[in-house]
Amino acid sequence: MAVRLEFLTQDPQEIELAERYWAMDGEGVYLERVSDLLPFREVTQPGALAKHVRHFCRAYDGNQVCHVCNGEMRINGRSEAKKSPQRSSRPCGDCQKLQREEEETRAAASRAALEERLAPISARARSTVISYADLADDSVLILLAIEALIGPKLLQGVFSLRDCDELTPMGGDDFVRRLYRRGVLLDDPAVAEADAYFLKDGELWHKSALVRYFLPPDTLMGRGEEAFSLQRHRELTDAEALTNLWLDYSVADVMRYLHYQCSLHGQDLGSEALEKVEGAVRHGLRRYSVAQMWFIMWKVSKDAAALASRSYYSRESAAATIPTKIRKQLEIADQGSALRNEWTRPEPHIAGSLGMVFNDLFGLDEYSKGADVLELFASLSSQGRDDGVELSELATTFMNATLDGGKSLPALEAFADLVRAGLSTEDALWETINRNPALFQ
Ligand SMILES: [Zn+2]
Repeated sequence: MAVRLEFLTQDPQEIELAERYWAMDGEGVYLERVSDLLPFREVTQPGALAKHVRHFCRAYDGNQVCHVCNGEMRINGRSEAKKSPQRSSRPCGDCQKLQREEEETRAAASRAALEERLAPISARARSTVISYADLADDSVLILLAIEALIGPKLLQGVFSLRDCDELTPMGGDDFVRRLYRRGVLLDDPAVAEADAYFLKDGELWHKSALVRYFLPPDTLMGRGEEAFSLQRHRELTDAEALTNLWLDYSVADVMRYLHYQCSLHGQDLGSEALEKVEGAVRHGLRRYSVAQMWFIMWKVSKDAAALASRSYYSRESAAATIPTKIRKQLEIADQGSALRNEWTRPEPHIAGSLGMVFNDLFGLDEYSKGADVLELFASLSSQGRDDGVELSELATTFMNATLDGGKSLPALEAFADLVRAGLSTEDALWETINRNPALFQ
């Protein structure tokens, strides 16, 4: 018999059953059919017999050796026995146990190494503070839009990328990551989902979908509603930051519409074509509204679909004409032909909370013409420059008065103290003057 049996029972009927189950001729053919061995006590199904026999009899296949240690191979049922001598495809039970233990030791070591890397990151993240007053205008707008989506989770808790899916019509990942890269949002490994962070070749990686982000406390006022509420009413003057954010948002709004049109026509734009389209759309949005760009997307997608039905065009080659068609439409419009602006947002296609923030603060929406939007932001910026002139005059007065009075050092020390306390340059200048009238006489 090619199978060696080891009994864990002394019951003669069980021993007989096991011997009959495994009995084979010189060719490895079993002498009896499994169904002929049944019923055996409570076992009536052929499929259950092998498992029952395993309870009291271990079987080792004489035709197989473990490919790791050359030891005997234990088998579970008839189908696993081999008819000719060979090395096993899997390790024997002992080798498997050893491999499992080695694997567990390795996993525990790499968990410990990972913990060691993450603990200081978590500690640093928890002790970081930022100055809300110094945040860029576009960062503030994105934070307001995130807050509109997730409420107190922004100011008191933690949140994930998925929580921000409805930031724009094309999701929120790019915008959240932007704040993360700027250090406005931080990640705390201690509260991330399991397996969010991992080591690969000694480098620390993370899966951003599993990461948890948070807004660190303000330098002066800490975390929470009161600290953040000042940002709701701050003066926004950075034309470049606001313009770029508006274009980023609007491009997303137009691209969402193009994807929708392409899916209706079964058109597939490759990444290169999409990049060209985004460039053209961004260019167009400096002059036209999102709705006007939707109209162009609708037209070029429809025209490409019509082209695809011609014999010398495939669906792919027709779709590849879309970027050029968009440029063409923009050229026609630039030459004076009117673009429709009453195009409506498709039902399932949201404006997103960033769109709502632009609407609340500046009254902008999909019908706002790009040229007007850019002009609006530029006018905010020139108001900002006026403030700059006043500030520079204030600084000149401050310096001249203290130089004339020979009191530069105490004045600068008082000013520096206030800046260190977190005041802006302008506020610190005014406070120094107000608190120390003697220095300026
Ligand atoms: Zn082995």
